[in-house]
Amino acid sequence: MKFGTKAIHAGVHPDPSTGAIMTPIFQTSTYVQEGIGKHKGYEYARTQNPTRTALENNIAALEGAQFGLCFASGMAAIDAVLKLLSAGDEIIACNDLYGGTYRIITKVFQQFGIKAHFLDMNQPAEVERFINPNTKLIWLETPTNPLLNLIDIEAISLIAQKNDLLLCVDNTFATPCLQNPLLWGADIVMHSATKYLSGHSDVVMGALVTNKPELHQKLAFIQNACGAVPSPNDCFLVLRGIKTLHIRMERHGQNGKAVAEFLQQHPKVDRVYWIGLPTHTNHAIALKQMQGFGGMVSFTLKNDQMDEAKKVMESLKIFALGESLGGVESLCTHPATMTHASIPKEQRDKTGLKDTLIRLSVGIEDAEDLIEDLKQAIG
Ligand SMILES: *Cc1c(COP(=O)(O)O)cnc(C)c1O
Repeated sequence: MKFGTKAIHAGVHPDPSTGAIMTPIFQTSTYVQEGIGKHKGYEYARTQNPTRTALENNIAALEGAQFGLCFASGMAAIDAVLKLLSAGDEIIACNDLYGGTYRIITKVFQQFGIKAHFLDMNQPAEVERFINPNTKLIWLETPTNPLLNLIDIEAISLIAQKNDLLLCVDNTFATPCLQNPLLWGADIVMHSATKYLSGHSDVVMGALVTNKPELHQKLAFIQNACGAVPSPNDCFLVLRGIKTLHIRMERHGQNGKAVAEFLQQHPKVDRVYWIGLPTHTNHAIALKQMQGFGGMVSFTLKNDQMDEAKKVMESLKIFALGESLGGVESLCTHPATMTHASIPKEQRDKTGLKDTLIRLSVGIEDAEDLIEDLKQAIG
């Protein structure tokens, strides 16, 4: 089955009691048992819920995985993976991480005796230098936020396999529509379903998928033992969102291309970051491991003054100023004062995160209107 068909049909079945084509929202906390130990596979809704099961199977199918698990947020999914570790264990993570991932590792798990190294994974050989007998997990994100760097998943997975380490890839930005990390050797794929999977900016949710039965068992145990599960209503919304994922991603990609090309020829724009541009530093990795380039576009202004970026952002009318990404509506954020404000300016400058860097989550409106909006705002 191809991707679009799977997005609509995988994991879902007409309701056997009524024939309802849409998976019902099973708003229940418990299930009546026919006798002691005799039930239909559902005992208590923290452990299992049929709306959630449908979504978990659907996301797993999209990633080419056997097993899927959904969580109350992307952070809850990350939390579950980190709970596979024990005191004394070490993590190697890429240095261009989602802020919340960096925060949970350094501020929460460090106090339980877990150590982490953050490094530039553009040089896979660098990763090997940090491996020691305590290393258990490699964590990477590709494309990264907000500079849209790419990491060669296969190159890192070969190192993970050679050293018997788990590899988890945060696939939020790419979505299973554009990239399937399990195919390149990852053990676990993580999603913030809040973003493209839901796609309508109305849910916070996370997901994990894997092909390894033992790993799935451990993660399902943590899901149930710790209890950060999503509501059946939210599962319904994400199931519905995913039915159009392939169509949305196609349009996000077309609009991303149109916006990136417009920005690239604009005299006031300095650099444009979009992984589909042949001038992107890691374009070859995108061609190797991705089926498309998506709608995340960042750019800097030639006049590198904070006020210039502010002026542009406050003049935008269709692009709404706000955190998050992946919804049908276009959003813009200013990393230097919003998501990455806690990083000192010198450090930001070093990694290319300039004061005028503006990040766009290009939505699925008409490209002409988005370009018109940028034109009037940049001036
Ligand atoms: C948003 C996000 C997360 C965290 O997910 P929540 O659903 O907000 O908890 C993790 N990784 C990436 C790349 C994200 O964009």
